[in-house]
Amino acid sequence: MSMTVCKFGGTSLADGNNIRRAADIVLADPARRFAVVSAPGKRFSEDVKVTDLLYACDKECAATGGCGEAFARIRRRFLSIVDELGLHFDIGPILDKTQEEIERNRNADFTASRGEYLNARIMAALLGWEFVDAKDIIFFNEKGAFDEKKSYPLIEERLSRAKRAVVPGFYGTGADGRIKTFSRGGSDISGSIVARAVNADLYENWTDVSGFLACDPRIVKSPEKIEVISFKELRELSYMGANVLHAEAIFPVRKGDIPIKIKNTFRPEDAGTLILPSKKYTPHGNIVTGIAGKKDFTVIFLEKSLMNSEIGFARRALSVLEKEKINFEHMPSGIDTLSLVIESRYLQDGVLDRLIEEMKEALAPDYIRVSENIALVATVGHGMAQNIGTSARLFNALSEAGVNVRMIDQGSSELNIIVGIDNADYEKGVRAIYHEFFEKN
Ligand code: ADP
Ligand code: ASP
Ligand code: MG
Repeated sequence: MSMTVCKFGGTSLADGNNIRRAADIVLADPARRFAVVSAPGKRFSEDVKVTDLLYACDKECAATGGCGEAFARIRRRFLSIVDELGLHFDIGPILDKTQEEIERNRNADFTASRGEYLNARIMAALLGWEFVDAKDIIFFNEKGAFDEKKSYPLIEERLSRAKRAVVPGFYGTGADGRIKTFSRGGSDISGSIVARAVNADLYENWTDVSGFLACDPRIVKSPEKIEVISFKELRELSYMGANVLHAEAIFPVRKGDIPIKIKNTFRPEDAGTLILPSKKYTPHGNIVTGIAGKKDFTVIFLEKSLMNSEIGFARRALSVLEKEKINFEHMPSGIDTLSLVIESRYLQDGVLDRLIEEMKEALAPDYIRVSENIALVATVGHGMAQNIGTSARLFNALSEAGVNVRMIDQGSSELNIIVGIDNADYEKGVRAIYHEFFEKN
């Protein structure tokens, strides 16, 4: 029989009614044997996610030694969830113990993980399934990365004994034996890891939209839905900010060739988006599959005659970054030019000035220029390589919209064209590209 691992996000589990809806979905298909859950998210737009309330507990603990005030809100949320569900589950003592552990441990990751822990306990009680704690099966190594060699056999062994189980997302155990979380939105990664470990046939990711949309619905009203997308396209789009799915969630399932399906908890009848390994994917008719982007980058533009014949130029430029422990995002280059695109948040408090001085010294460029407040927009699709003139259409669309292109990077995959534009033009630029490839005919 086929097997599905399903992950439910925070908005899908924000209150008792939604948790019941999620449980009904789980039970509707016997293939769904393992459920991974997030902490309760927002119930309405001004609401606060339980994970954010937990980070507030951590702050309160640091300031006062206790978290009575912040934890009271969390307590109320979980009590009302159990109450709405009409569940015979005595959560009071579990909440008392959780508050006591938070105050004793003083570990931000432990504290933040409790939303997933408590929600998974509730979901397990509601389904009548076993609760398997992520701390016993998901491990991180000394570098803080997911330790697959240690984790996969443990997950496989533990879950094969459980038959059906609920696993909390977002956390595991660090190399020091303490609870450690993934980055925000990381329950998507936990779900993917579980799917890979049990060799599932499908990884379902249940959220609050009916699939991956061709661009951010907050920028373009009702963008087209993507029916099928390849892992490669998804990776480019999610890395560039289409955060329906955490950008790292793709890796575990990709290794196991396990397809992902994005589904809407509030409209389970909708088809959703199917994400396929590239070899199982046949490109559809569209040239462009999707558009995504992020604001707040800085571009350092270096020019030097005969740069190309100067051995080690790029290496020296990168070693300046390495020395300052700074990642770069992109490095487009021409014959005598090289640009470094860096997230602006790494360049605060004098770091940028220091970098420029160090580059002048190490590289002796003829010219060095810095552009700040740059947004990157990625236009992604397997169809782009086959269609001559795609970049001309893209640049035309931007220029007609009055958007000035400050940087261009066409990835070597031919799957992605990234343009750097002013932060202030970001929304306008995304709309112009969307209009060109999706609305015009
Ligand atoms: P969950 O709580 O289920 O993990 P998230 O909030 O992390 O859900 O992700 C779903 C949200 O991602 C959507 O509500 C939507 O606002 C946003 N989003 C951003 N880009 C896209 C896109 N291209 N397609 C669909 N949703 C997108
Ligand atoms: N609850 C965590 C967060 O808010 C993890 C997740 O939802 O995936 O980031
Ligand atoms: Mg999410």
